[in-house]
Amino acid sequence: MARKGEDRFYISRRRMVEEQIIARGIRDRRVIEAMLTIPRHLFVDEALQEQAYGDYPLPIGEGQTISQPYMVALMTEALELKGDEKVLEIGTGSGYQTAILAHLAERVFSIERISSLASRARRVLDELGIFNVVIRVGDGTMGWPEEAPFDGIVVSAASPDLPEPLIDQLAPGGRLVIPVGSPFSQELLKVTKKEDGSLIKQGLGGCRFVKLIGEYAWKE
Ligand code: SAM
Repeated sequence: MARKGEDRFYISRRRMVEEQIIARGIRDRRVIEAMLTIPRHLFVDEALQEQAYGDYPLPIGEGQTISQPYMVALMTEALELKGDEKVLEIGTGSGYQTAILAHLAERVFSIERISSLASRARRVLDELGIFNVVIRVGDGTMGWPEEAPFDGIVVSAASPDLPEPLIDQLAPGGRLVIPVGSPFSQELLKVTKKEDGSLIKQGLGGCRFVKLIGEYAWKE
């Protein structure tokens, strides 16, 4: 994996981590290390690489975006990954957060509804030697029942509500992180499933994501 001196973006990446991630309160050392390691510029078009470490989302084609670095860090930290988890990601997009999750968990299952994005993400992950990820094209609001339960589920598109299949497929003690609200603004929610199946919901702040489109979200 790219490290100091090995790529010309290392200094930009370190600045991103210091100014956007640590300065805003992300404390999980493993998340910080993953964000220092994963070469974010490889997940955007070459013409946008100089902007890859900026404090904003960027277009990745098909009307979709690679999420703002801080949002990726915040969502990932909320999953509380220790290394032995099975994680489900909805909305592979560029594959950047997928790579961060793969660095921090044992296995990642990622669903993307747009096949061209899924293929591109797979290619970049392969080039980086990240093989503990399975990507599937489909409607992520249905989850991935054959692989459930999951210790962590992260949804990186805005949802009108908590998709029922994702709650069902969350392991007892597991965490679901999801932006919930209107198509124009959402609250980032961390939902923890207790051993008795009840849910604890915690707001992590306001955000704005592209729409989650599917059976248990907005219809196309
Ligand atoms: N974390 C990604 C990244 O950093 O590249 C950001 C992904 S982007 C904000 C949201 C993605 O969710 C888009 O690629 C979109 O196509 C996808 N999406 C929307 N609805 C979906 C669904 N029902 N199932 C799977 N993917 C979906």
